[in-house]
Amino acid sequence: MSKSYQAIVIGAGPAGSSAALTMARAGLDVALVERGTFPGEKNMFGGLLHRMPSLEKIFPDFWERAPLERHIVKKGVTFMTGHSSFSTTIEAGNFDRPPYNGYTVFRPRFDRWLADEAVAAGATLITRSMVDDVVLKNGKIAGVSILGRGQLSAPVLVAADGVLSFIAQKAGLRKPTFDPAQMAVGVKALIDMPREMIDERFGLVRDQGFANEFVGCTEGVRGGGCFYTNYDSLSLGLVFHLASLRTSGKTPYDLLNAFMEQPQVAKMIRGGKLLEYSAHMIPEGGYDMIPELVGDGIVVTGDAAALCNATGLNLEGINLASHSGVVAGEAIVAAHQAGDFSRQGLESYKKLLEESYVIQDLKQFRKAPHMLHNNRIYQEYPELMCDFMEKIYCIEGSPKSNVTKLFLKSARKKVGLGNLLADGFSAWRSL
Ligand SMILES: Cc1cc2nc3c(=O)[nH]c(=O)nc-3n(C[C@H](O)[C@H](O)[C@H](O)COP(=O)(O)OP(=O)(O)OC[C@H]3O[C@@H](n4cnc5c(N)ncnc54)[C@H](O)[C@@H]3O)c2cc1C
Repeated sequence: MSKSYQAIVIGAGPAGSSAALTMARAGLDVALVERGTFPGEKNMFGGLLHRMPSLEKIFPDFWERAPLERHIVKKGVTFMTGHSSFSTTIEAGNFDRPPYNGYTVFRPRFDRWLADEAVAAGATLITRSMVDDVVLKNGKIAGVSILGRGQLSAPVLVAADGVLSFIAQKAGLRKPTFDPAQMAVGVKALIDMPREMIDERFGLVRDQGFANEFVGCTEGVRGGGCFYTNYDSLSLGLVFHLASLRTSGKTPYDLLNAFMEQPQVAKMIRGGKLLEYSAHMIPEGGYDMIPELVGDGIVVTGDAAALCNATGLNLEGINLASHSGVVAGEAIVAAHQAGDFSRQGLESYKKLLEESYVIQDLKQFRKAPHMLHNNRIYQEYPELMCDFMEKIYCIEGSPKSNVTKLFLKSARKKVGLGNLLADGFSAWRSL
């Protein structure tokens, strides 16, 4: 294989396909290189596609055109202990009408669709091709080599190869090692369940969907659970901070199995049939984890650039990846017009990203990843919430304490008042 393109995108995930789509629509001859047999084959996520302003701009009918599952109208959080749970849920009327706030999707279908849109716009999709190096000529980026298949040439590359991005490493834009404190690993089970059973069990009608987060379900390992309804299946997952998982000596799959056996969760999935397990890494270091975004002849996008916003309230990755792909494409189109693929010539990528919600949100929640390293969030606070709520509703036939006293009693017992104040201040500063 040996061919020249005006740009090469490495990785056909949401970042890569959005970049290829943008450049192809502007008339560039672009190669989109993917290691899987089809885009999305190797990709998984929890399950919630948040609003996609960048794609909605390209496709005004995005929400009808893309292969989406249920729109999420109900969002909840459950605090769990081994024997109790306390949940809060919002069911928002605004989430039940277009433009919808978010959908569940399956990556193999969604990623394939987005890559197909790039191909329809004129990009060349090259699958089953693992890019294993960056090719340099006279010290300048001149293309990529593909494992066992030769080389492709182009004056500019988009690294969209995901969280471990060997391409950004090879180009010297990020370090070869990771700080485990900035990395998370997610494991997910997909459970088959008839649509009517899902609708009835979770109180859903039409194409409505339900998303729920869980805190206190990870046996003290820093992390949390997530649950999403698809049309006729359920996605149930756990995400762990890598450093915490490593020191715990526990395995993700044992923790996931234990999570599925917890009475509160077992009730949700009862009658379902386990279809598959999957796992993937997540860059959760936030703003402080972002590597060099631009080099001579290369830009770094999506998870490869750690553009993932995990605040503890939401995990946003696909929307940020896609937006970064679109602006990377725009910057490369401008660089072609100027004939300048140097770092300066591609600098507009960084500028466009900094002006967008992507970097602004990551900056806004810069402290959140540090706050989430507080072990008390994962055990003591769920215990506090459950203990307090249980006390509120417990009738003992003796005079009642007022609610403040009840709360302080639970807080003293479970967390300590000093810790409560310090953690409250930290949460206020982070969120
Ligand atoms: C468990 C879990 C739950 C998540 N939940 C959510 C959620 O609910 N909502 C949300 O918005 N985000 C979520 N995310 C984050 C989201 O999945 C990522 O932020 C997003 O997929 C990043 O897109 P990307 O295109 O940058 O990278 P990826 O989606 O990882 O795509 C990279 C692509 O590059 C290909 N590739 C890699 N190396 C090479 C190579 N050398 N040569 C050729 N091809 C290569 C891969 O096969 C892949 O197709 C979650 C992630 C995980 C792991």
